[in-house]
This record gives sequence, structure tokens and C-alpha cells, in this order.
Amino acid sequence: MRRANDYPPLAMSDRPNLKDYPLERLRERFVGEGLPAYRAEQIAAWIYQRGVEDFAEMSDLDRALRERLQADWQVRCLEIERLDRSSDGTVKAILLASDGAQIESVLIPEVDRTTLCISTQVGCAMACTFCATGALGFARNLTTAEIVEQVCRMRALVEEPRKITNIVFMGMGEPLLNLRAVSDAIAILVHPKTFAMAPRRITVSTVGILPKIEPLLAVAPINLAVSLHATTDRVRDQLVPLNRRYPLGALLDLLRELDQVNPRRPVFFEYTLIEGVNDTLEDARRLPGLLRGIPSKLNLIPMNPHPGSVYRPPSEAAIDAFLRVLAGAGMTVTLRRSRGDDIGAACGQLALRRTGAAAA
Ligand code: SAH
Repeated sequence: MRRANDYPPLAMSDRPNLKDYPLERLRERFVGEGLPAYRAEQIAAWIYQRGVEDFAEMSDLDRALRERLQADWQVRCLEIERLDRSSDGTVKAILLASDGAQIESVLIPEVDRTTLCISTQVGCAMACTFCATGALGFARNLTTAEIVEQVCRMRALVEEPRKITNIVFMGMGEPLLNLRAVSDAIAILVHPKTFAMAPRRITVSTVGILPKIEPLLAVAPINLAVSLHATTDRVRDQLVPLNRRYPLGALLDLLRELDQVNPRRPVFFEYTLIEGVNDTLEDARRLPGLLRGIPSKLNLIPMNPHPGSVYRPPSEAAIDAFLRVLAGAGMTVTLRRSRGDDIGAACGQLALRRTGAAAA
């Protein structure tokens, strides 16, 4: 596998990018251009299985074809601009797109797995009041190639024999507001002839864009994570402005019906604990009832502070008390340890220094 620094610098190009195409569509396009379909598979194997992106090195393609591909296509669209390593091993990358947009990805090595957290948009339009990305506002959607390429660039940073075992769409942006690119990226990640990732090792997190949830789960049986963060509409309206459009009741009703679409996979609820806002014992007591009928796991994330936010995490004692109520009610609940907060890589801290807003 190629290492991160082996790649030549990026040039602006308006040629189509191979990484924008799920394999079936690449085959169709090749056939339409008079090339045999199996060429698509050969090229996908070079790019995704061997990490080779230079046509000149694709030794099972004849020279005329290599030159034609070189003239018609590009393969790469992101460059590593900056890497920060946390004392806990977490690596945050700022990747530069050809239009100058900066994209953040976070690699999180753990004992038994290595998780990659990727972005789907530049900035975010959801404006959640406790999230640093939300304070940036929205710039643009990422392309499929830009989503897939985060995986290509970041896996080159993983020391063998480790490899990326899990991918979470929990970086910057709201994945379900970029559903087409996200769906195609998932199709590329799970295809047996490209990355061959098991769908259950992929998790997409959403604030709850209701009409897009079932279409997302129709792509592949991936995990759905939902940013819950509150037990009443009053508090959720304040934290997640989208709640005014898709309130709690409607969100949870839809998730209750999901079983047919996503059999046996639990929904992962994220609940960022914020002192004095959503951390009362009444909140904890309301949760089991709210989530009744939804196979679920609840992930508590103590608020990661960032400059520009007035919100703080609760005390250890308050977090403990909250956890105990939930565990006592028989809920499956975990506490997400903050990873990489010394480099601004923890949940909700992704925001670019250059923009000046809510610097992480
Ligand atoms: N837009 C999607 C994907 C981002 S996932 C979504 O919101 O689900 C990032 C997760 O981190 C979300 O659950 C988000 O609410 C949470 N988060 C945001 N800011 C945070 C902060 N400051 N501390 C802890 N978690 C935060």
C-alpha cells in the first residue's frame, strides 16, 4: 500500500474523477466509450485495493489505454495540507480540495479497531448551537470523490498491520443533505471489488432529515446514528434548530417504523451532555420512555468545549448520576470518551482555524 507522502502534488482539472463513480456506473461509462467493462474492475482494483493512482503504474493496462485514461480522467482530488497528532494517538487531517476548500478527517486508533471519521460538506447549514462546525455556516457539498478520497488519503497514514476497520460519517456537515454523494461513496466503500467494507462497519450520523433516512438505509445495511441531544422539543429546538421542522415525536415515530428497512440493526443515539441544559435526572428518566420500541444504543458525549461556545460539560458526578439512571432502566448506554481534544479533533470541534470562526 502506498504511503501518504508518495503522492505527487495536485493539479486543477475539469476531467471527470474516477472516484466519483460506483463500479457499476464506471462499467457502463466505459462500455459507452467503447472500452470493455472489465477495464473498470482492473482500474478499481489498482486504486482501491492497491492504493495505486498513477496510470503509468497500472501494468496490466496497455500503453495506449494508459495514455487515453491519463488524458480523459483524474484520480485524485485532495492533498494533505496539515496533520495534527494527539497525545492519545488520534490524527486530525486538514485536506485541501482543488478549489481551496479545506476538509477535515479524523483517524482514531483504539485497541481493537481503527475508526476513521469523515466529512460530507464544507461547513454545515444545521447551525446546532453547541457545535463548532455549526458556527461556520455552510460552504458546499463534497463530491463523492472527495468523500472517498478521505478514506484513501487517511488509510495511507495507518501503520501496518493495522487498517481502518470502521468508518463514521460524523465529521463536518450533514450527510443526509448530501445524500447522492454520500450514497455513491457508501456504494464504493462496500463493493467487494473496491474497498469491500462490511456495511455494519459504516455509520452515518444525522440530525434527523426525516425524508432522507429510508433512502439512505436502502443503499446498504449500514448503521444509523441520530443526534438526539434532548428529551423535549423546547430544549431540542434550542440545540438543533432543525427540530422546529422535524420535531422529536415525528423523528422517533419514523425510527420506530424503521425495522422493516433496517432489520435488527439498532439505532445509535448521540446525546451530547451539556451542563444545565439537557443533563437533569428528569431528562435521564424520560429517555427510556421516549426510545421505547426502537432497538437502540445510547451514546453519551460530554460536551467538548470550544472557544465561542458558552456550553460546558456537566461534572463527573452529574454524568455518573445520569448514566446510572439509564443503566438502572435497562438501557444500553455508553459514554464516549473524548478523543483528540488537545488538537481540536473531538466531536463538535471540527472547524477550521483559517475561517476565524469558532477556531477549534
Ligand atoms: N451532522 C451530523 C453529523 C455530525 S456527527 C449530525 O449532527 O449527526 C457529530 C456529532 O458530534 C453529532 O452528534 C453532534 O451533535 C456532536 N457534537 C457537536 N458538537 C459537539 C460538542 N461540542 N461536543 C460534543 N459533541 C458534539
